[in-house]
Amino acid sequence: MANQEDQFKKVVSHAKEYGFVFQSSEIYDGLSAVYDYAQNGVELKKNIRDYWWKAMVQMHENIVGLDAAIFMHPTTWKASGHVDAFNDPLIDNKDSKKRYRADVLIEDYVGKLDAKIEKEVEKAAKRFGESFDKDQFLATNPRVVGYKEQGDAILKRMGQSLEKEDLADVKALIEELEIACPLSGSRNWTDVKQFNLMFGTKLGASADTAMDLYLRPETAQGIFVNFLNVQKTGRMKIPFGIAQTGKAFRNEIVARQFIFRMREFEQMEMQFFVRPGTQKEWYESWKETRLKWHLSLGMGAENYRFHDHEKLAHYADAAADIEFKFPFGFKELEGIHSRTDFDLSSHEKFSGKKLQYFDPEINERYIPYVVETSIGLDRMFLAVFSNALQEEELDNNTTRTVLKLPAVLAPTKAAILPLVKKDGLPEVAKKIVEDLKWDFNVDYDEKDAVGRRYRRQDAVGTPFCITVDHDTLNDNTVTIRHRDSMEQQRVKIEDLREIIKKEVDVKTWLMKM
Ligand code: ATP
Repeated sequence: MANQEDQFKKVVSHAKEYGFVFQSSEIYDGLSAVYDYAQNGVELKKNIRDYWWKAMVQMHENIVGLDAAIFMHPTTWKASGHVDAFNDPLIDNKDSKKRYRADVLIEDYVGKLDAKIEKEVEKAAKRFGESFDKDQFLATNPRVVGYKEQGDAILKRMGQSLEKEDLADVKALIEELEIACPLSGSRNWTDVKQFNLMFGTKLGASADTAMDLYLRPETAQGIFVNFLNVQKTGRMKIPFGIAQTGKAFRNEIVARQFIFRMREFEQMEMQFFVRPGTQKEWYESWKETRLKWHLSLGMGAENYRFHDHEKLAHYADAAADIEFKFPFGFKELEGIHSRTDFDLSSHEKFSGKKLQYFDPEINERYIPYVVETSIGLDRMFLAVFSNALQEEELDNNTTRTVLKLPAVLAPTKAAILPLVKKDGLPEVAKKIVEDLKWDFNVDYDEKDAVGRRYRRQDAVGTPFCITVDHDTLNDNTVTIRHRDSMEQQRVKIEDLREIIKKEVDVKTWLMKM
């Protein structure tokens, strides 16, 4: 655990020190759970967004994009159920006065059981060596099976109680498990209450005519209210999808874990409209497609798992999370939800406008069913960034800090470094920069010894360093150093574009899907 915490602290401080993520309004001591993306962070974030957009929109003939406004007519949120049901169950500790999400306290408890299972596995793997069969061990070791059953039973009971709005039982569960406040250590809890997560604001100047609005808590509703506009103007045929990326706002009770849970964050969502009755197939198919997208980035298949929901949201008939192994354990990264016709039907009811589709293949008019894929851009950023940050022991007994980002996502693709700041080397280096910057985000750096410059680029994840030296003046060759292997090659300047492109091109990466 201490190790995990250390690793997470390193992630947060590295993100700040190297210009990825800053606390919002830091000079005023910050604003809780709100963050700004700095010079390198903004590039990484944009590259993740582009990677998603390419895969989800541009590579699918039947998926189109949308950029709906953050403000929406307030009835939207009545229809979507957010006014009545977008609540988190909260509980206060009377001694520390700290507020928690009741479900998160319980999930953390189960997380500890998971950690115990992992420890048993590690111990057994050491004991049995080569012959260790992990699946068999997980299925048969009594202690492990016990932990697993206990965890499943707890989550099941919590899911059922939340579903029934039986908040007294959620509290009873916390008491039975003897969960203590992490701050005060006490078990002196208030009752569990519901708390709506939407931020309210006002539209209009005078107090009496102003209209109460909400900042959207998800981007999905902007897609639903535009469903018919897009279908008609785009002559879309079912099945088809509408995708958008954009800001969403939630007044999260427990905002911690850096950019994992923010009050202002960005989502990348796609709503896929299908014929009723086919939603199950599409749900399974999108689960698979989305996992492949994650795996294409090469961040380790063992770091992902599906978690099927026990407690379904008011709109869903099936739901699963893709969980990622963050420095603080496996947590939700993306949700795939089969939303039925809940949203469109409800908007029909509240707006009085028909939101139906005539299906020429079966000669029928219906309200489509929807399968949604929804991922937090900031969470994806945290997944990529924390997975990439590594301390490496080198042969000469030194260590280096290296951000092994997938090259396609790296903020800067190549740094061009003149070996010395004289003899015409900077001029040649700058010419290379001028040429390459049409295709890639590149950096020029002439300060300090070249070894120091390599380290700086390693720390921000630049896949290539290109060094111009005196030989360059004679033969037009440069040294190209690869971030991960630290190998150096002598190559012709004219070949640089192709070498870089091969490793950073979106196509190279998405073809792995
Ligand atoms: P959680 O259970 O963690 O609160 P959720 O199930 O409410 O998440 P969804 O409503 O399914 O989340 O939103 C889809 C995605 O948006 C999530 O998978 C997550 O990546 C992202 N997301 C949700 N809330 C936040 C937040 N407060 N900060 C950052 N990302 C978020």
